[in-house]
Amino acid sequence: MRDVDTGSVTVVDDYTFLVPSKTRKSTMYTVDAQFGLCSCPAGHTGAFCKHQAFVHERFKEAFQNAPAVTLEDRHKLAVLALGPKCPNKDFFRDLQDQDVCDSRSVPIQRH
Ligand SMILES: [Zn+2]
Repeated sequence: MRDVDTGSVTVVDDYTFLVPSKTRKSTMYTVDAQFGLCSCPAGHTGAFCKHQAFVHERFKEAFQNAPAVTLEDRHKLAVLALGPKCPNKDFFRDLQDQDVCDSRSVPIQRH
């Protein structure tokens, strides 16, 4: 996904993005950052997919289903996503290991 242009993504609203397929240029996947879903085969099951990772990285959206990863994992994922543009490991040191949540999420109301 690192060579996918950010401009090829359509921002529908605060939480919804249309992200192009890397392999099928005419296919667009719908990424819902609020619920952590994507319409691709992997994301459709609720898994955190590369399209969600792309939106997370490029549009700074937080996903509740993003895997909690270590500093080493974050750096490896960033190398995969950004290639030679990836910052060094120290850049990722201050990021939280867990409890990544969207500050705009709506609390669940119980009756
Ligand atoms: Zn996806």
